[in-house]
Amino acid sequence: MEMQKFEGESEPQPEQKQLFIDKEIDAIMARITRPPEGQVDYLKKRPEELEAARNEILLDVGENCPEGVNLSRAKDFVESMGLEVNPVVFVDESNTARINEILTKHSIIGMEWVPGESGDYSQQLGLVFVKINRETGGANELFRAESLAVHEMFHSTSKYGGTISKAMRGRIEMADRRLGFCSGAPGKPFGEFLEEGFAEFMRGRYSKIYADENYKKSVEIATGKKFSENVLKTSAGVGEYLLPVKYAMPTATGEAQWPVASVAAFAIEQFCEVIPDLESHMVEARKSASGLKKVFKDIESVCPGLYLELQKGAYDENSFVKKLLLVRERVAEYTAKKNSEASQGSISSGIAET
Ligand SMILES: [Zn+2]
Repeated sequence: MEMQKFEGESEPQPEQKQLFIDKEIDAIMARITRPPEGQVDYLKKRPEELEAARNEILLDVGENCPEGVNLSRAKDFVESMGLEVNPVVFVDESNTARINEILTKHSIIGMEWVPGESGDYSQQLGLVFVKINRETGGANELFRAESLAVHEMFHSTSKYGGTISKAMRGRIEMADRRLGFCSGAPGKPFGEFLEEGFAEFMRGRYSKIYADENYKKSVEIATGKKFSENVLKTSAGVGEYLLPVKYAMPTATGEAQWPVASVAAFAIEQFCEVIPDLESHMVEARKSASGLKKVFKDIESVCPGLYLELQKGAYDENSFVKKLLLVRERVAEYTAKKNSEASQGSISSGIAET
């Protein structure tokens, strides 16, 4: 009897094991990503002043979409995945001052359009901003802006709002509780790698499908590679790494620029090769806590311990390149293990058959 009891305790039933794993995951998720259950209607939670600023920008400034930018095609691309996008405002010298005036009028701290930045999604306002800069982008600026709008629109598909706002001396201070895979506190980034990687992964696909011939040609001349190939790059302090050419953006001076996010996007591509459901789970994670859990499980099932490792750290080139190299290494280990298991399996089944 005693022996049976001991065996029962040391060998939990499969459903008990599953329960333990689920509890463990819940505990980790609660600690590191704090997902809200189900969908969050962030529009209902937006403070009045923000709602007023948003409406005034939409009415007074509007989309300002330049001729030659196919915004409806870009929107369709995002919405075809069952995701909702927020309005896009193209920012140039004609409306920058007006946007900042509206933000100041509504007493919003720290929300100023910074010239020189290429794109931004303001979750607090629920607006996508894309900078148009014909001087730096040259002839390819229009498609560059269109593809940037795709990147920012994917950030805007996050259904987790939870803007935290605090009125201070008649002004409002705000922080995002969560945006997609990001859930960092101010000064403590968490989740940038997957959030930036996801948005950029989709921009890369959009460019591959819709970039015009001139744009592709400019990138190919600047990189010396075909649009569908990879190019070898070097990061100071980290070393050499490969990046797909499709993420490059041509400049007016004949160079190619890769957003830092493209490094994370390429890591996601490598995960997708061994986790076929990852992409659909990432899309699901834009609007449900269960989707977030699936992404966590997907990555942990292939590379245990890696999810947390990837989600920590700064949004900069060195940090992202280190993570890309780590993903490449861990995915290669996983593939080698799978292949060796498969060949072991075929040897033993071969023996069984003879
Ligand atoms: Zn981004």
